[in-house]
This record gives sequence, structure tokens and C-alpha cells, in this order.
Amino acid sequence: MSNPTIAVVGSGPIGSTYARLLLEQVPNARVVMFEAGPQLTAVPGESVRNIPDPAEKARAREMSQGPQAGAFRESLGIPAATVAEGMFTARQGTHLLDFGGTGSAHAPSFPAAAAATNVGGQGAHWTCATPSPAFSEKIPFIADDEWDGLIEEAKGLLHVHSAAFADSKVGEAIRRLLDGEFGAELPEGYGVGTLPVAGDPQPDGSVRWAGADVVLGPLADKTSLLSQRFELRDLTLVRRVELDGHRITGVTVQDLRTGDESFVPADVVVVAADAFRSPQLLWASGVRPRALGHYLTEHPVVISTVALDADKMKQFATEEDLDAELARRAQNPADPVAAVNRIPFSEPEHPFSVQVMYSESTPFPMAPGTPYSDNRWGYVNMGYGMRKHPRYEDAVTFDEDEQDYRGFPNMTIEYALTEREEKEIAEATERLRRAGKALGVFVAEPRLMPNGSSLHYQGTMRMGETDDGTSVADPWSRVWGYENLLVGGNALIPTATAMNPTLMSVAIAVRGARKIATELS
Ligand code: FAD
Repeated sequence: MSNPTIAVVGSGPIGSTYARLLLEQVPNARVVMFEAGPQLTAVPGESVRNIPDPAEKARAREMSQGPQAGAFRESLGIPAATVAEGMFTARQGTHLLDFGGTGSAHAPSFPAAAAATNVGGQGAHWTCATPSPAFSEKIPFIADDEWDGLIEEAKGLLHVHSAAFADSKVGEAIRRLLDGEFGAELPEGYGVGTLPVAGDPQPDGSVRWAGADVVLGPLADKTSLLSQRFELRDLTLVRRVELDGHRITGVTVQDLRTGDESFVPADVVVVAADAFRSPQLLWASGVRPRALGHYLTEHPVVISTVALDADKMKQFATEEDLDAELARRAQNPADPVAAVNRIPFSEPEHPFSVQVMYSESTPFPMAPGTPYSDNRWGYVNMGYGMRKHPRYEDAVTFDEDEQDYRGFPNMTIEYALTEREEKEIAEATERLRRAGKALGVFVAEPRLMPNGSSLHYQGTMRMGETDDGTSVADPWSRVWGYENLLVGGNALIPTATAMNPTLMSVAIAVRGARKIATELS
């Protein structure tokens, strides 16, 4: 095909992966990327964690909060919605789907479900943890050697580093204490270690966190040749994917600055608009495979905060090590995270993904004078992520007769944990108690977060090996029966996983992009 146009819906890490690879691999292609939210940073898609000024950072987060964006609500084209009292709060930079006002989703069984609406998507706000899937987390119908290559390419796109903060003596002492507690129970190669993160270590020891900007790479650089074939339209909502039978002809978009709607023809459309809004857009467009919106999974999460005990820490680090750490940290006050450790998922011994973030401060205010409120050795925020096993009945469904605040068929989420998950949650909570005791004293006891808190929503457009009604996409991310319609994001993950999903979703997108690029070329 000569000079194909590819329309990408959503500017998060997955939409950005498609844009970059298709422009690199299809010589005359043009990519138009549509993003419903505003651009936050001069370089599109940069992580807001890199913004040094606290007021600017807060503003960028507020601008990402869609219907709950306060003063920015009008600029997003959204009528004022009442936020109900007593609602759950969303993580900074995100907004709840069930925000309690007119046109909000119905999600009593999944109350913390949230999204980000901005250039870079959730990838402008994420923690950047990028472990690789292992054992049964992997996709059974992709061969291991191909999969390993896809993961390597995904790591390159996201700037993944396995050894961020690895020289931190405090981080090392935390690892040694955890290893003393758990090491003997963990299989070879899956013990306590540093957490791979997406970002570039800086000479001062800090990390420049990766967002969609690094995935876009040369596309985000106006002086590059590739960027001349790339157009990013922010504040532009894709209302429908247009069809001629089972062929996509393009997308109907609405400019949220003017309200004007127009049709943009495209040879290929990639929908990467998150695990709720992508299936919603497909459903609104009349693309309704049986599995669409179903098999919703996430990670039940048990978290706690621990004040590090000086005597325990001093077994492996000195006061001088701590002073050096604090001096290094003082150079970068914008980012309180100073070391990242983990215990990875393994089977059958350890079906959990554990994240241990060392920080000088707690993520919640502690009144001066309360025990451990000014702990010289600092704190760790620890979380156990667990599996949710896919079931058809855990689902987001859509209602033609009721519209959401954007005028789309409204969403209802039904979701329940089963005995199988309850058992793993109880085991993880027990282990979290052991981890806390090994490191110090709990200042926030282990607690199970409400459903939806992980922000890792998976399965609602799952990929499958055959078109048997239990999947939405083929092994190359194409919607079954629609040759030029691709989908992307965590929603494609068909397995029960415990690890953070973005690296895996980028790997899946690399596979889809390679295949469609070959066909377009
Ligand atoms: P998104 O990043 O969600 O982007 C989708 C975009 O589509 C959004 O910008 C949205 O506005 C846009 N959109 C939606 N509908 C339309 C439409 N109709 N028209 C136009 N645009 C539309 N993952 C990890 O792996 N590790 C972590 O440590 C981690 N930590 C996280 C911490 C936080 C606070 C958050 C919020 C997320 C975290 N995640 C983490 C999740 C990670 O950010 C997501 O997995 C990733 O961003 C998904 O990428 P995506 O491109 O599929 O979707």
C-alpha cells in the first residue's frame, strides 16, 4: 500500500509504541494520534514526576483528571459534574470512573477504577516498575524465544534499567534483611533483588522517569525526519471507529476546543485508549465480540508502610552510608523515592509480585510527635500484588440507553473476588507482616486496597489463539474479523498475572506493529 494513514487512538505508552514502530518500519506511512486530554509538558508525554516545581507538578496532575479536573474541566469540554461526597479518591493525575456525579460509570464492586486523560495517558503518572512476566503469566501461544525478543525490544522502548539506585547502601541493607527472612523459601533466580524501572539514571544518582515521551523517541523531536510524518492532536476525542462492513474506513473525531466533529480517513486504526474506554469505543462503534469487556482482571493489592529500624539496618549499613544517602537525596527534593527493591513472581512457591520502595517520608502526613514520625532511617512502602483468575462474569458492560459524561454508552462494572483469590490474599498479608517485622515497625498496618486500586486493568479485550468467543483479538492484536482494526494495552493480557503489566503490553504491541508493518509495506 502506498502512503498509508494510520490513526492511533490514545497517546499512552501503547499508542506511542505503534506510532513509533509503524513510522520506522513503513517508509511512507503517516500516523495521526488522537488524544482526548491536554498536553501537559513541552515534550509530549513526559512523566510529571520529572517536573521539579511542586506547583507546576500539581497543575499537570489536575489537568489529567478529566471530569474531576476542577478549573480545567471546561477546557476538557466537559460540563460541570457534581462530585458526590464520600467518594473514593483517585491517585494523583487520575480520575475515578465512578465519580458519583451525573454521567459517571456504575462500579460499586470496583470502586477505585480510574483513568488518566492527558497526553501520555497513565504513562505520565506511573511508578515505572517494569518486571517481566514469568511462568504462567506469559502468553501460552507465543514461543519463548520470540517472546524474549519482544520483551527486549519493549525494554529498549521504555528505557528499562534493572539496576536503578543499585548503589544505594540503604537499599542494599533492605535487600539483605528481606533475604534473611525469605531467601531460603525462594527459588534460584527469583530471590530478593532490585526492581527494574523505566527511566534513565542521572549523574547525581536520581532517575529521569520514562513516560510516553521516550517511547515516541524521535517522533517527539520536531527536528527529526520521522516527526514530519507524525501528527499528535491533543484535546481530540475519537467518537467512533467508522466501518464499511468489516473494514475500517477511518474515525470520527471531535475537537474538544471547538466542539466540531469531522471524519478522518485511515487505512489502519489502532485503539489504545485503556482497558475501559477502548472496549467502550468499540462497542459504541458497533464492534461487539462476545468477549468484549469481559474477563476483567487486575491485581488485588495489600500494602503497608514500615519505619526502618536503626539496629536492624545497621547490621548492613553504617551511619555514614545513611548520611551519604541523605545528602544525595537532598539534591533532588522533587522525588522522594530513593531505592526500589522487589521479590518477583515465581511458581509454585511465590505467586506474588512484591514491591518495596524506600523513601525518606511516608506517603501520608504524620503529626509531629507521633511515634516514628521523624524516623532518621526513613520508611519503606511495600505492596504485594496478586493474581485475579479470569472469569467471563467479571466485566464492564455498556448501556445504549444511558450516556456517560462524554456521551458514550455508560459503563457498569461487575467484579468479585473468589475463594481462590481470598486464599492468596490471606497468604500475602501474612508474608507482608513478616517482611515488616524483618525491617522495622509498621506505621501503616497491612491492608487490602479496594478493588480497582492497582490501576492494572486487564483482560477486557483479551487476545486468543482461536476465535472461539473467549477473546477479542488474534495473536497479533487484530480484532477477530476486522483486518485493519488493532487494539492495544493491558486489556489484551489473557493470563492471570501478578506483575505490573506495561512492559508486557508494550511487548504485545511490538508484535502487532511488526505484523501490520509487514503487511503495509
Ligand atoms: P493509557 O496510558 O491509559 O493511555 C490511554 C489514553 O487514551 C489516555 O490518555 C486517554 O485520555 C486516551 N483516550 C481514551 N479514550 C479516548 C478517545 N475516545 N479518544 C482519544 N483518546 C482517548 N504500570 C506498570 O507497569 N508499572 C507501574 O509501576 C505502574 N504504576 C502506575 C502508577 C500510577 C499512578 C498509574 C496511574 C498507573 C500505573 N501503571 C503502572 C499503569 C500504566 O501507567 C499503564 O499500564 C499504561 O499507561 C497503559 O498504557 P496505555 O497506552 O495502554 O493506556
